[in-house]
Parts: sequence; structure tokens; C-alpha cells
Amino acid sequence: MTELNLIEATKADLPDAPFEGRHLIGGEWRASAGGATFDRLSPSHGMLVSRSAKGGEAETEAAIDAARAAFDSGVWSRISGKARATLLLRVADLIEANVDRIALLETLESGKPISQSKGEVGGAADLWRYAASLARTMHGDSHNTLGEDMLGVVLKEPIGVVSIITPWNFPFWILSQKLPFALAAGCTCVIKPSEMTPSTTVMMGELLVEAGVPAGVVNIVLGHGQPVGALMASHPEVDMVTFTGSTAVGKAISVAAAGTLKKVALELGGKNPQVIFPDADLDGAADAVTFGVYFNVGQCCNSSSRIIVHEDIAASFVDKVVALSRKVAFGDPLSPNTQVGAIVTSQHQDKIDGYVRDAVAAGADVCLGGAPLSVPGLPGQFYQPTVVRGVTPDMAIAREEVFGPVLSVLTFRTLEEAITLTNDAAYGLSAGVWSENVHTCLEFARRAQAGTVWTNTWMDGYPEMTFGGFKQSGQGREIGPYGLDEFLEVKTVAMRIGRTRANWVSAG
Ligand code: NAD
Repeated sequence: MTELNLIEATKADLPDAPFEGRHLIGGEWRASAGGATFDRLSPSHGMLVSRSAKGGEAETEAAIDAARAAFDSGVWSRISGKARATLLLRVADLIEANVDRIALLETLESGKPISQSKGEVGGAADLWRYAASLARTMHGDSHNTLGEDMLGVVLKEPIGVVSIITPWNFPFWILSQKLPFALAAGCTCVIKPSEMTPSTTVMMGELLVEAGVPAGVVNIVLGHGQPVGALMASHPEVDMVTFTGSTAVGKAISVAAAGTLKKVALELGGKNPQVIFPDADLDGAADAVTFGVYFNVGQCCNSSSRIIVHEDIAASFVDKVVALSRKVAFGDPLSPNTQVGAIVTSQHQDKIDGYVRDAVAAGADVCLGGAPLSVPGLPGQFYQPTVVRGVTPDMAIAREEVFGPVLSVLTFRTLEEAITLTNDAAYGLSAGVWSENVHTCLEFARRAQAGTVWTNTWMDGYPEMTFGGFKQSGQGREIGPYGLDEFLEVKTVAMRIGRTRANWVSAG
């Protein structure tokens, strides 16, 4: 393959021994009954990164019991917002003091570049601080207009015990999109990280203990979807499950939760387009498309895995993207210069490659990449930056989540056609539009079926701005005030003032 910006293996201080992860249950760190463990090998370096206790039904039941008892005791659910905020702020400080240590494990388990891991871990502290601000400012409503003898208040209360199930692609960040908001609301939690990236969730547990979280308020069970995640989704003592992961598992969780009608919040997959009009800042758009498709090796729910570009500029725009793609630094995630790291597993690498091969067989044309990439000095799996044009809307590569560094190029002629193509997807997570015409941008933003629309930018996010999906990209919202509301029940209290109520049964 010609000219890529390849970062070979760099000399780096790897840990001397694997990280040993245990469950956090009722304030104690525990191994599994019987001592079962599972291992995670680095997707880039091949080394053993972590050995974790492998949870089963017994550990999951114990963690749920601990969370239930802690919630019902009021030790967290009934304390002041100020007290909750104080703890969340302490956790934020501890996160910032431990960025390097946590980021190294995040990179070794996930394969993402070290600079990105540091950004995500350090950035997560801001989510904790924002959630702390909500803990102190949330409030219900009052109704003083119901008549002289009535006063109404609507209270917001924590929903109860929350199961938090997270994926491998942003382990620390996604946990921080959920946990501080659940804690700000007054909930207690049982957390299951992905079996591929368990260690930084354990590190978060260590920080929470150091910050002084009461025993049982946050519990962590390490292990697989079966049985741990499935039990967390179906258990009658759990009041809500919040899940980020694949749409297929999200559907299974909805089914499992239906038996007890517990609340379900789902952040699922996406097939997110960026639409490029001829009047756009085309250099800016090409850079954003390049970022959008390769960030986290495309293993990102917000990956802009398809572009819908106006026919008149399609050829020259794709040339720009291909030229930029060659400059993106792919390779050793431990190098501070690397922008794109490893693919999470070899099975996933095969799946990505399969999408590209099937598209070619169906008549598409690979104009860059389209094959695995070997990085000198590293045994792990990497994939070339890949651009596929001549993609038609019926192809799997245009409709399904490839979850790799693969861009599909589709074209349009009119705004109407661009909106139809944008909405022609089972997913509805995010979408972007590039044009200098504000009317074009606003019409697109209003008609795109997506939880987030970016105009003349891609993937900017703020704790204040809520995030979530339309259609099969999910239900419920995270971060922002709406993210807090997910973890709250609403209760109406109607209060009669004085003995003014007319009897229903006549006294005589
Ligand atoms: P996954 O669905 O395979 O696994 C996610 C979690 O669910 C893991 O902890 C896993 O152990 C657990 N799990 C598996 N089977 C389960 C079951 N039957 N019951 C309960 N839990 C179970 O997802 P993944 O491969 O880890 O992550 C990638 C997916 O996540 C992609 O589809 C991506 O789009 C999505 N994602 C979405 C967002 C978002 O905010 N919308 C963010 C990141 C990732």
C-alpha cells in the first residue's frame, strides 16, 4: 500500500504485571466464589493486560442486594444535594490526579491512542463536576394556583437501584456519562463494564472508595453479558437499567427488563451521515469527515461512517479526504504521536474486512485501503484507513454499523434527496450538514431523524447538551439536565389546607 502515516512500535514502559481486578460489593473488594478469572490481552501489544474476577449469579445477586440495602437505608438517597455534590467533586479531583495511570490501562485494554485516553479520562472529570452542579440545583415544581385551600408540589426522587452496563469503546467516558448523574439523583448502582475493558471501571471504584462513597452505594461486578448483565437487566430488585452497547444487546435487555417493567435507557449504534453541499467550506468538511470516520478507529457510535456528498463536487471532495487520510497517524497507541490505534479483537477485524469485501463484490470501488494493516514491531490487529465510493443505499456497508475505519461515499443532487438518504436508516443517532447557507443547515437540522445534528462541525459535545438516539439508536437521554431526569421518579403531593374538604359520604 502506498504512503500512509504509519507509527511503528515505540519504546514504552509497559506495566510489569497484569492489573488484578476484583468485584466491589458492599464496600469490599472480592474475588469470585471458586476463584474464577478472565484475561484481557492488549489488542495492540498482545501482552496480558489484566486478570479479572469472573462474576457469576452469586456475585451479581450480592451486588444487587448491597445496592438495594444501601438505597433503602437512606445513607445516600436521603442526604442533601450538597453532600452528594461534595463527594462528586472529590471524585472529579481524584480523576484528574490519576489521569496517566488510568489512561495507560485504557489504552492497553482498548487499543486507543494514549493521547486520546488521557483526553477522555481527564475530560470525564468535567462530567462529574457538571453532575455535582445538578445535585445541588435540581428541584421539582410547586402549584400555588389550585385554589385557596390547595397547595400542590411535584417532588423529584431517585428512581432507586440502577444497573449500569457499559461497552468497550469508551469505557471510562461512558461510565462517567451515567454514574455521576445516577449518584447526583440519589440512586445506588451496580456496574458491569465490558469484559474486554474492565480495569478502568475498577480504578473508578477505587477512586470512589477513596472519596468516601458509603458502602453499597456503588457496586461493580466484572464478567460477561451472561449471566451478569442479563441478571442485572431482569432482577426484580433493580429499578432501572441503563445500557450503552449494540442495538442487538439493547433489544435483549429490553426483553429481559420487561418482566418487571423496570425503566430502560438505551444508547445504541448509529449509521451517521455527514452531508456536504457544494457551497460548504470544503477543506473544513474534508477534515471533519476524516476525523469523524477514523476517530477511535471508527469504533465509535458517533462515527460518520457515511458521507452524502453533492454529485458536482463528489470526485474532488473524495480526493481531498483520501489525501488527508494518508496523513492521519495510524499505529502504536502508546506513541504520543498516534491518532488512530488498534482494532479491539481479531474477530472484529474480520467483520470489518467482510463489509468491505461484500461492498466490492456488489460493485463498489475501494479508493483507499481496504485491508488489514501491519504495524512493525506490534503483534496486534490494525486496519488501513479505507474509503469506498460507488456505494448504493441498499448495500450493507451503507446501512449497517461497520465499526471500523471505513468511509462509504454516497451522492445526492437535491436537499430533498439528501434528507431522504439521511433518514433511510434504522438508526438515528447523529447527522451533520456542511453548507454556508444557514437556511440549508436549519432545514436539514429540523428534518434529520437524529438525536444530535451538527452543522459545519462534527462531534462537538458538552456536559450541558443532552445526547441520545432516535429510532433504533436508543431511548432516553444522557448528560445535560435530561440525563439527570432519567434517574428520577416524579411524585405529586396534593395538600389540602384547612378542613375544607367536602365529605363524599353524607353525614346524615
Ligand atoms: P455489546 O452490546 O456487545 O456489549 C455491551 C455490554 O453489554 C458489555 O458490557 C457486554 O458484556 C454486555 N452484554 C452482552 N450481552 C448482554 C446481555 N444479554 N445482557 C446484558 N448485558 C449484555 O457492545 P460493545 O461491542 O461492547 O460496544 C459496541 C456497541 O456499542 C456499538 O454498537 C456502538 O455503537 C455502541 N455504542 C453506543 C454508544 C451511544 O452512546 N449510543 C456509545 C458507545 C457505543
